[in-house]
Amino acid sequence: MKKLSSSQIRQMYLDFFKEKGHTVEPSASLVPVDDPTLLWINSGVATMKKYFDGRVVPENPRLTSSQKSIRTNDIENVGKTARHQTLFEMLGNFSVGDYFKKEAIPWAWEFLTSPKWMAFAADKLYITVYPEDKLAKQIWKETGVKPAHIIEDEDNFWDIGEGPSGPDSEIFYDRGQEFNNVATDDPENYPGGENERYLEVWNIVFSEFNHKPDGSYEPLPHKNIDTGMGLERLVSVVQGAKTNFETDLFLPIIHATEKMSDAKVYGKDEQDDVSFKVIADHSRAVTFAIGDGALPSNEGRGYVLRRLIRRATVHGKKLGINEPFLYKLVPVVGKIMESYYPEILQQSDYIAKIIKSEEDRFNNTLTDGLKLLDKEITTAKKQQPAILSGAAAFKLFDTYGFPFDLTKEYAGDEGLAVDEAGFNAEMKKQKERARAARSQDNGMGVQSGLLLDVKTTSKFIGWDHLSKDQATLAVIVANDQIVDQVTTGTAELIFDETPFYAEMGGQVADQGVIQNEAGQVVAVVTDVQHAPNGQNLHTVDVKAPLKKGEHYQLKVDQDFRRKVSLNHTATHLLDQALRDVLGEHVRQAGSLVEPDYLRFDFTHSGQTTAAELAQIEQIINEKIWAALPISWVVTDIESAKKLGAIALFTEKYGKEVRVVSIGDYSKEFDGGTHAKNTAELGLFKITGETGTGAGIRRIEAVTSKAAYSFLNEREQWLQQAATELKTTQLKTVPTKVVQLQEQLRDANKQIESLQAKSAQQQASDVFKNVQEINGTSIIAEQVKVSDMKQLRQLADDWKQKAASDVLVLGTVIGAKVNLIAAVSPAGIKAGLKAGDLIKAIAPKVGGGGGGRPDMAQAGGKNPAGLQDALKASTEFLQG
Ligand code: ATP
Ligand code: MG
Repeated sequence: MKKLSSSQIRQMYLDFFKEKGHTVEPSASLVPVDDPTLLWINSGVATMKKYFDGRVVPENPRLTSSQKSIRTNDIENVGKTARHQTLFEMLGNFSVGDYFKKEAIPWAWEFLTSPKWMAFAADKLYITVYPEDKLAKQIWKETGVKPAHIIEDEDNFWDIGEGPSGPDSEIFYDRGQEFNNVATDDPENYPGGENERYLEVWNIVFSEFNHKPDGSYEPLPHKNIDTGMGLERLVSVVQGAKTNFETDLFLPIIHATEKMSDAKVYGKDEQDDVSFKVIADHSRAVTFAIGDGALPSNEGRGYVLRRLIRRATVHGKKLGINEPFLYKLVPVVGKIMESYYPEILQQSDYIAKIIKSEEDRFNNTLTDGLKLLDKEITTAKKQQPAILSGAAAFKLFDTYGFPFDLTKEYAGDEGLAVDEAGFNAEMKKQKERARAARSQDNGMGVQSGLLLDVKTTSKFIGWDHLSKDQATLAVIVANDQIVDQVTTGTAELIFDETPFYAEMGGQVADQGVIQNEAGQVVAVVTDVQHAPNGQNLHTVDVKAPLKKGEHYQLKVDQDFRRKVSLNHTATHLLDQALRDVLGEHVRQAGSLVEPDYLRFDFTHSGQTTAAELAQIEQIINEKIWAALPISWVVTDIESAKKLGAIALFTEKYGKEVRVVSIGDYSKEFDGGTHAKNTAELGLFKITGETGTGAGIRRIEAVTSKAAYSFLNEREQWLQQAATELKTTQLKTVPTKVVQLQEQLRDANKQIESLQAKSAQQQASDVFKNVQEINGTSIIAEQVKVSDMKQLRQLADDWKQKAASDVLVLGTVIGAKVNLIAAVSPAGIKAGLKAGDLIKAIAPKVGGGGGGRPDMAQAGGKNPAGLQDALKASTEFLQG
């Protein structure tokens, strides 16, 4: 076997397919772009959906990439199998309606066996095919694979529901029986079985059918090839490693972990090795994911990160590492991946900071989790049978991040088993919840062929022009058909040239009209989008007949466009100002540029303070007042990067990119429209700042006239306040408000003391009227108080004074009546109960109530009955 490093192997794969006419696509962000159906990019093809379902036609139908991928469903496999990680790189070659089986099969064989490339021995390789795919089997044979090495397997059909699907071929490498975990005569001991001997390295999918919504399959108009080979698995074969982990991709991480551990050494103890592998895997996954803008949180992607970091922490503890350590592995990962992913080292301080703070946080819950575990163990021991409940194990797993195995181990030390079925049942429930929350995970649309074959060119001239005379109408689509003319309804149009901007990069589509040569409006443009081959496709309301081949005048609504452009320029200023004020880690996470306002989402793990926002606003306005010119160039990606332009990390760019510069202040990759000079913006004002989700903040802002109106409206409110405060000087409003508040406070104090006085006065009046009934003294009076509290106060005074045996007070507040009854200790001894009394009299005021023997309250809605109620209380004593 050749001695090759992982970097060399990755490069050789890309070079091989470059020689076969493929364009090398960069490894796209792990965070899917414009694809809400996927949590993470989980394969090479996941980044190419738009090509495979026909929304976009690629410049070159042959593509190749080494794509970073995350598969959360493999988390539990990590460290247990030789071949799984959560983060891995998938090498792939893709044909979008171009070559098919006849080329894909021999090329795969050539790459793996040719002495110039991987130079694997042919008899080490096994191929699986779908039984009905006779053609694939035939081609493998013709390519030189021995029939005994070609295995038919029903599972070899790639189908993810609606969208492209088809048979596939998997390639296995026979590592020899010494690598196996099952016996030679085990039924699983074959390529494709559950074993460690035959390693699946490559999967080649021949996507040739459309899986239709009704469940039927029809041949695809354009057949595709989609392949995936795990780089780590290939490297493990080339480097003769026992598992993916004993390769140059992981060993440096494992060695760095050994140094931090309690004198643990890799390769000595099976359990320790699992921990080393989990840590090595998880450190890579979280480093890359955070580098791509994800952040730990309680949901979605963020939760995956949290889980990975927690698992790694627990495994660290097993190796005797009791403090945050994962973050220290970030530069180690960065160094290993430097040749293909230089951005990791560049961002390593930021990534480490995020991981460290998450580790700190978990170290707190870890202690709590262990406490809970001890408590549960004590409880379980007292029960028969002595088993730790599944619910407890699940809580430990779910809330405190304790993997089940760890709980089992801890419980085992105490002589306890854990209810695994109960745990699994809880787990299943949670998975069902998660599944219900996630929309379908397939997400490729059914190919619609209509515009795929439309290759006519359409030039966008809207960066410098707002109208175009004599544009030729090249394509008309009406009622899902390409037609030569249209007279009414809605239609989609492509012209040879157009000033209309198609929605992209957050900037909304232009609006406007289309006129004929006589100056009559023949169509109103309601939307503009990119057709699969990149042309600007105008959706219009047809007002008068339109004919293919005729000339028309295209007129963009100037006022609309101007407002949008100002806001787009402001968005770039904001992007840069955020980096200046909050730090270089800020990444754009979404943007909307409309005529009336702009919205900008960005990654930032903390709050944004009012002072920071003020500073951002200040910087942007300074740039506006400095009247900076805006210019743009179209150049190649490398030169653009050399210029220092900010690229959207989630975006894929073609060969040529446009770079927009605002003076020396901002440079960004961008296809949008802008002001010519920042002075046109006039004014910039932030109107709102909120958090939208895990680690994402959102700013909304306005410019120009909208900013003026925003401020003006506020000034009017202030004017109104001034008028109400009887001042003509706006600047005195705050002190006037403070003064008013002070006055109000003083007045309230006076009211309170006057009320107290008057209550005392009333009390002495009220308590004079003592009646004697059957040897019991009673005071039953209507009083004037403002709330229930005062009524209770009066009852307390009565108690202090021991004014009678029984007290009944009633008061009317608004439309309601409140009653209070109290009985003295002597009265209680004589068998009287305030609760009984109030129950007897409350119906008179249309209410009910109750209470203790010494004190009871009631409320009612009939003030007219109050006197009757008071009278009823004396009758109550008469018995
Ligand atoms: P396996 O059965 O081994 O999990 P798979 O059938 O899930 O593999 P595919 O979906 O066909 O794999 O992905 C294509 C290739 O990607 C595989 O042949 C393998 O080389 C690689 N691969 C898939 N999952 C992982 C993983 N978790 N870690 C490393 N490599 C992987
Ligand atoms: Mg798998």
